[in-house]
Amino acid sequence: METIWWRGEPPATTTGIAAGRHDVVVVGAGVTGLTTAWLLARAGMGVVVVEARHPGAGTTGRTTGKVSALQGTLLSRALAAGREDQAEAYVASTLRAMSWLEEHADDLGVPLERRDALTYAPTSAERPAVAAEHRAARQLGLPVAWLGSPDLPVPAVGAVALPDQLQLDPGRLVDGLTRAATAAGATVVTGWRLRRVRQRADQVVLSLHREGPGIHAQGEPELRLRAGRAVLATGAAVVDRRLHFARLEAERSYLLAAETASPPSPMAFGAGASIRSFRSAEVDGRRVLLVGGAGHPTGRGRSESERLAELREWTVEHWPDATELAAWSAQDYATTDHLPLVGSLGGPSPDVHLATGFNKWGLTSGVAAALALSGNILGTPEPWAERLYERSWRLRDAAALASIQAGVAIGGTAAAVQLPMSTPTSARRAMSAECRLIPVCTHLGGVLRWNDQEQSYDCPLHGSRFDPDGRVLEGPATRPLRRLPGVEQRKTNDVTTPESPADRKEK
Ligand SMILES: Cc1cc2nc3c(=O)[nH]c(=O)nc-3n(C[C@H](O)[C@H](O)[C@H](O)COP(=O)(O)OP(=O)(O)OC[C@H]3O[C@@H](n4cnc5c(N)ncnc54)[C@H](O)[C@@H]3O)c2cc1C
Repeated sequence: METIWWRGEPPATTTGIAAGRHDVVVVGAGVTGLTTAWLLARAGMGVVVVEARHPGAGTTGRTTGKVSALQGTLLSRALAAGREDQAEAYVASTLRAMSWLEEHADDLGVPLERRDALTYAPTSAERPAVAAEHRAARQLGLPVAWLGSPDLPVPAVGAVALPDQLQLDPGRLVDGLTRAATAAGATVVTGWRLRRVRQRADQVVLSLHREGPGIHAQGEPELRLRAGRAVLATGAAVVDRRLHFARLEAERSYLLAAETASPPSPMAFGAGASIRSFRSAEVDGRRVLLVGGAGHPTGRGRSESERLAELREWTVEHWPDATELAAWSAQDYATTDHLPLVGSLGGPSPDVHLATGFNKWGLTSGVAAALALSGNILGTPEPWAERLYERSWRLRDAAALASIQAGVAIGGTAAAVQLPMSTPTSARRAMSAECRLIPVCTHLGGVLRWNDQEQSYDCPLHGSRFDPDGRVLEGPATRPLRRLPGVEQRKTNDVTTPESPADRKEK
C-alpha cells in the first residue's frame, strides 16, 4: 500500500560500511535516528546510520504529518495517573521539538503549514474526556480554548483547540534529514539489519546482516561494527535485554488520502474508542483530505481489509465528493502510560541508547528523544529530559503491563485457534512464493496472521511483520521466516538491497 508522501528523487545513501571504530552508530533512519545523526554529525562526531530498508521505510514515512502539542487526550490521562511532573516535562519536550523543527524547516526544505489543532468529542459520551483534556492542557500552560460548537464537517459536541500548530509532509522531512545528516558528515547505510548489540568495556559491538532475497535465517553475522556509542532508533525495541518489547504494544492504523473540494481547515482528532484523525494537505497542486484511524493491535481482531473499509465508509459519509488517491497503514508502539521510553540501557550496556514508545506522536517525541540523547552524548542535556525519561526504566504500571501481556496472550491464543481457518490463505500464499515459509514469528514464536490488506504475515504477540518472501518488514523480529525443510533457499549471491530508495513502492 503506497503513501502519498514519496515523491521526487530520494537522497543518495550507500550500502557499503567503512571498517574501523565509529564514534556513534545510529540504527534506524526514521525521524528519531536521522535527527540524532544530524545533531551529532554537525557537532563533529563520526556517525554511521544503519538502516535495514531505506530512510523513512518504517513509521515516519507513513504518518499523518501532524506536529502538535495537543495530542488526543494524552495530557489528561498523564495527570489522572498522578504524573504531573512527567506531564509538564512532556509538554516542555514537545514544545522544544516543535521550535527545533520550525528553526530548521528551511534548511531541511520542509514547508510547514500552521493550523489550529483540535481534540473533539464526536458524541456526548466523549465530552467529559475532552473537557478533561482542556483542563489538563490549561494546567500545563498550553493556550487552549474550549469550543462548545466546533465548526467541523463531522459530528462534534465540544472540542479543545490549540492554535498555531504545524502540519508537514513526512516524506520531505525524511529526505531533508537524510540530506542534512549526510552533508554534516554522517554516512547513511541501507540494506543492513542489526541483530545483536553487545557492550564490551568501552566499545559497543553491533552484529549486522545484509538484507535481501538470499538472507540467512541463522548463522554468523556478516559484519561486526564497533562504536563508542549506539543509538537504537528502530521503532520497535529490537534488543531483548530487560524485555523492552514486552513493555510496548504495537498498534496498526490506516490512512487514506482523498481529493476533495472542501478539505478541513484545522487538524482534528476525534476522542473515543473509534479514533478518527484528519487534516488537509496540498499534494501536487491537489486539495487533499487525509483521514486516519481504525487502529487495532497488530495481527489481532477483525481483518485489515474490514478496518480500511470502515475508514473509507466514514470518509465518504462526511466528504461525499472525496475521490481516493491512496490508502496505506502503519504501526507505532505505545508504553503502558503512553509516555516515551528513551535513554541508556544501563547495566552492562551504558553506551547503548534506546528511543521508542512514541504512541503515534513521534514527529515531536522522536525529535525530542533525538535532542535529549544527543544532548546527553555531547554534554548539553535538555532541561526536561531527566524528569521525562527517568521513570521510563522502572517497570511502571504493573496492572497496565499485565493487561498488555494478557492481551498479547489472548492475541496469541486467538491466532493459534484461528490457524485451521487462516491456514489455507496463509499456506496458499506461502506455497505460491518461491520458497515455502513457516508462518511462525522468529521473535518469540507467535503464530502469524495473513494481513489481507498489505499482503504480509503479522504477529499478534509483539507486532513483527514479514513480507511474502519472509523478510522482516518491521517489529522486534530481526530474522526472516524459516522455510519448510527440504526447500532450498535462494543463492546467497542473489543478495540485493530489498527496497532501495529508488524503489519506493511500499508493500
Ligand atoms: C498511522 C500513523 C499516523 C501517525 N501520525 C503521526 C502524526 O501525525 N504526528 C506524529 O507526531 N506522529 C505520528 N505518528 C507516529 C510517528 O509516525 C512515529 O512515532 C515516528 O515516525 C517513529 O519514528 P522512529 O524514527 O522512532 O521510527 P521509524 O520511523 O519506524 O524508523 C525506524 C527505522 O528503523 C529501521 N529498523 C528497524 N529495525 C532495524 C534493525 N534491526 N536494523 C536496522 N534498521 C532497522 C526501520 O526500517 C525504520 O526505517 C503516526 C503513526 C502512525 C502509525
